[in-house]
Amino acid sequence: MRITIGHLYPDLLNLYGDRGNIQCLMKRCIWRGIEAQTIAFELGDRIDFSGLDIVLLGGGSDREQMLVCQKLQAIAGSFREYVEAGGVVIAICGGYQLLGNYYRTQSGMITGLKLVDLYTEQGEDRLINNIVLKSDLFDMPIVGFENHGGRTFIGNNRPLGKVLYGSGNDGVSGYEGVVYKNVIGTYLHGPLLPKNPQLADWLISRALERKYGEIVELPPLEDSQEREANAYVYNRFVGSGHTGAKP
Ligand code: GLN
Repeated sequence: MRITIGHLYPDLLNLYGDRGNIQCLMKRCIWRGIEAQTIAFELGDRIDFSGLDIVLLGGGSDREQMLVCQKLQAIAGSFREYVEAGGVVIAICGGYQLLGNYYRTQSGMITGLKLVDLYTEQGEDRLINNIVLKSDLFDMPIVGFENHGGRTFIGNNRPLGKVLYGSGNDGVSGYEGVVYKNVIGTYLHGPLLPKNPQLADWLISRALERKYGEIVELPPLEDSQEREANAYVYNRFVGSGHTGAKP
């Protein structure tokens, strides 16, 4: 088995080292004997989505998003076909906002890819916080860090999780992120996947199922350190009682 990851525009969208999430996906495949490769695309490159199994769209400043959004329109059609056909996407912060219809900022309108029916409006202040979520996709909590000026409104779409600590999509709804088909959009930055190995494996499983047409049971990995780190953050911000032990 083999997984090909497409990293969209790492030169512009790579705030807080979102690139580390690629390393995590690659390693978790390789440790299980699944071949993995990553193709990094620059703005203006032709992207053949039929050769990709997972797409990562990272975070960026408003200025970088503005630069990217003009070029993104050229790939929006084929990106949409990929998503509608069950293509796996992990979109983080600025990348999450770009999945939607638009991000309206005080200095202009950033047109989105319109892959998921959501939109973002710039708020008065930035939402900067550690953040902990409970998602019904996973038994472990999702932990991370958020730093965004935008408030994202997902309408009737399914959120990624309920906020246990932190701000989330818009600071008031109590929800964070979005799940649409095999797309996850989230404000959680930096080492999202190393801190949340179940989320990494969800992406790998969905990609293998789509590619090989069968449910693939991923062999468990020795994740005790990841679980301890996750539990530490949960306990620090939400409360004790969560040990990190496997259920
Ligand atoms: N520029 C966007 C915002 O401030 C996204 C920032 C980010 O990717 N951290 O809302």
